[in-house]
Amino acid sequence: MSGDTCAHRAANGELVIQRCTGCDRRSHLPEPACPWCGTRDFRSEPVSGDGVVHTFTVVHRSFAPGYQGREPYVAAWVDLPDGPRVFGHVVGCAPEEVRVGMPVHVTFIDDLPHWRPA
Ligand SMILES: [Zn+2]
Repeated sequence: MSGDTCAHRAANGELVIQRCTGCDRRSHLPEPACPWCGTRDFRSEPVSGDGVVHTFTVVHRSFAPGYQGREPYVAAWVDLPDGPRVFGHVVGCAPEEVRVGMPVHVTFIDDLPHWRPA
């Protein structure tokens, strides 16, 4: 891994999550400093890529540059069995098919983690 704290993806395609070297907590989204203890030193750990939709919203009008014109799309918080809750878009099914509790697996689009039905 490089020192880039925004990297989500290991060279082998695994999803990686930051773990703080100060308090040992995992965090997501990648932060320049630990939200709990302020440490700026992290290591990146691979996780399985499995998750479960915790909650989601269907975006019909995006204000995010780069996503305008892609609506409707699903923005979700996904619980990982390995620990943290992570944010990402759900792809690979119609927005109306997404459900709370739906099992998903990570997939990468433009090197960013997205989630598709497992
Ligand atoms: Zn910490």
